[in-house]
Amino acid sequence: MSGTQQDQRQADGVERATDFDAVIVGAGFSGLYALHNLRNEMGLSARVYEAGDGVGGTWYWNRYPGARSDTSSWIYCYSFDEGLLQEWQWSERYPQLQEVLSYLEHVAERFDLNRDIQLGTRVTAATFDEETERWEVRTDKGDVVSARFLIAALGALSAANLPDTPGLENFTGDRYHTAEWPHEGVDFTGKRVGLIGTGATGIQVATEIAEQADHLTVFQRTPNYAVPLGNHPLDAEFRRWYKENYDEIWEQVRHNFSGHDYEPIGKPLQEATPEERERAFQERYDRGGFGLWLGNYDDILVSREANGTVSEWVRERIAERVDDPQTAERLTPRDHAFGTKRVPLESGYYEIFNRDNVELVDVKEAPIEEITPTGVRTKDGEHEFDALVFATGFDAMTGPYNKIDIRGRGGQLLRDKWAEGPRTYLGLMSADFSNLFAITGPQSPSVLTNVPVAIEQHVEWISDLIGHMRDSGLDVVEPTREAEDGWVDHSQEVAHSTLLPESATWYMGANIPGKPQVFLPYLGGLGPYRQKCDEVAANGYEGFAFANREGTSV
Ligand SMILES: Cc1cc2nc3c(=O)[nH]c(=O)nc-3n(C[C@H](O)[C@H](O)[C@H](O)COP(=O)(O)OP(=O)(O)OC[C@H]3O[C@@H](n4cnc5c(N)ncnc54)[C@H](O)[C@@H]3O)c2cc1C
Repeated sequence: MSGTQQDQRQADGVERATDFDAVIVGAGFSGLYALHNLRNEMGLSARVYEAGDGVGGTWYWNRYPGARSDTSSWIYCYSFDEGLLQEWQWSERYPQLQEVLSYLEHVAERFDLNRDIQLGTRVTAATFDEETERWEVRTDKGDVVSARFLIAALGALSAANLPDTPGLENFTGDRYHTAEWPHEGVDFTGKRVGLIGTGATGIQVATEIAEQADHLTVFQRTPNYAVPLGNHPLDAEFRRWYKENYDEIWEQVRHNFSGHDYEPIGKPLQEATPEERERAFQERYDRGGFGLWLGNYDDILVSREANGTVSEWVRERIAERVDDPQTAERLTPRDHAFGTKRVPLESGYYEIFNRDNVELVDVKEAPIEEITPTGVRTKDGEHEFDALVFATGFDAMTGPYNKIDIRGRGGQLLRDKWAEGPRTYLGLMSADFSNLFAITGPQSPSVLTNVPVAIEQHVEWISDLIGHMRDSGLDVVEPTREAEDGWVDHSQEVAHSTLLPESATWYMGANIPGKPQVFLPYLGGLGPYRQKCDEVAANGYEGFAFANREGTSV
């Protein structure tokens, strides 16, 4: 690791370095922190490539109305710098998109990151050169650079999924995907809008569009167990409280199961009396947030009986909030268990169906047959629209990897290796893909956590490993096949000891036709996962094989 950079005059006449210690792909929470750690803290040369024209990742792209974090603002941030923690003021319990974006832009400036971030540039290919033991990275802007380490900070939810409904291209009105929303905003006043998708995003955006549009038709495939968000402004006293207590707060969220500020009740549901349960559920529902999901009785995601009780309780709340019993029934999930899909948080979602200008179409009853030039034709007839909004989510976790031609040893493509499902050790690395690190990759806790906490753990662990290699004169690392096989099996075993794999979710790849049905994130919990990673490091990076340029295995 020399830190030397060769310069090359490119077609646009700009001098650019082409030889780095690390190339980082993506400039969201992950890429920004990776750049800070590797360059500012460790002195490595690094270049970030980001497809968007600004930093922020998720918070740069998903500018739809109603977009906000479902994690408490004071922990939906970095914890690595005390000054940053103390100076930033969060205005609400759950920050709006713009506030998170401003925060990440502030971080990029504060730590002088922008000068090493090349925006508007998509990495298209990365090939591991077995002669030089370096990655050759190519972009859609014609860059060809080389790096010892390749850091995939691609985001678990960054490859937008547009369904291939027949006739999609024929629609003559305006068409939007929530993950590629126009930055100037969209005015739906006086418009007839069709919304496809009722996941966490669909529920946020529907609530806002219902207020503005002349008419909104919500096309629903699967009803969800949405529960209240409970957002409110933060006052000065509360801000003082969390700033004074940050040490304890971070200690808790770094080591608990989810990285969120919820803890399970500490006993199984059957040990509580019916009155106790009712009180526990109601308190969590009234307080808002993920409490009913992540801070409930210990067994609600493993015991069918316990889950049945809470599922039925949430169904009753939906029935109470929707005036028309037939619409209420359509909005009531009966085909999956509470919490086995990502629980959407809502702010008046169910009440929009009590308005005259909002209609619900159940596409299981009336499947969409085709998009026409003027709208959507279902089995029951045509709906005309001025605008169509797709809240159809992402090709989660593996999608962003599969979009890049990543070639490891022997020219093997990562997407071929992962054709039957991802294969990683600790969700961090894959055998035959030396020096390629994933941040919140598949088979790591990732989307089942408060993600920035998982990101910090990954970036710091990877930096320590790179530091270890530098100190020991090692150039190359990858997991052994044995360690990888063990982790793949363990990760599936843990998932299948719960109810989650029983539901057709994006956690399982079920939203993408042809995608292998394998549970993608690691369900063992962030705290235990952190402990496992620490033990691996303490045992001399057990399960990893190292070599130096002379080829000596260590
Ligand atoms: C609408 C929405 C709401 C969310 N709310 C929460 C929440 O409440 N709490 C929570 O914990 N998490 C939430 N998440 C998850 C969120 O993605 C993470 O919290 C976090 O922002 C991830 O940061 P990241 O840097 O890992 O990925 P991202 O923010 O997705 O950034 C990845 C970046 O990589 C870039 N990229 C990808 N491929 C390439 C390529 N080939 N070349 C160049 N650039 C590339 C993308 O353009 C993107 O900017 C939410 C996600 C979405 C979509």
